[in-house]
Amino acid sequence: MTFSRYLVAAAVLTGLAVPTSAQAVPSPSPVKAAAAAAKSYWGATPCNGRVTIAARSRLQAGMDPTTDAWATFSSSFGANNLAAPAATYRNCTIALARWRWPTAASMAEDWDLLCATVIHETGHLLGRTHDSRRRSVMAPVFDDATIAPAVCRTARPRAARRG
Ligand SMILES: [Zn+2]
Repeated sequence: MTFSRYLVAAAVLTGLAVPTSAQAVPSPSPVKAAAAAAKSYWGATPCNGRVTIAARSRLQAGMDPTTDAWATFSSSFGANNLAAPAATYRNCTIALARWRWPTAASMAEDWDLLCATVIHETGHLLGRTHDSRRRSVMAPVFDDATIAPAVCRTARPRAARRG
């Protein structure tokens, strides 16, 4: 089983489009917990702390159907260009696919992958590119949920705790 990390390439193909589900949907607590884990993991906050995480986003035209998350931003080099200095990134969005995480309960249930995914996407918003090492959180594809960094265990939301 593989989990596709498909990011910026799709957004480049389709043009910069903020997911339509971004409006007025409060972030479920697992999303907030994952954002906190990402901040802790990287020791930095991208985009001057202004990142919109759009849960339950619909895939955009041309995206691989296995895409479960993607990041979009504008930069001094144009849309979604990781070659630009990360300090110039604005309009930063992380979209989480509705098909993969349709409910807050599903996010809690699938916490480790959600957490690792938000860390990965946040890495892009900090200017990180993909890492070919399989066990890297910046790997383009995750083999399984054990990829989740230790910070995901301490940041685990109450609803996702077991036992
Ligand atoms: Zn990626």
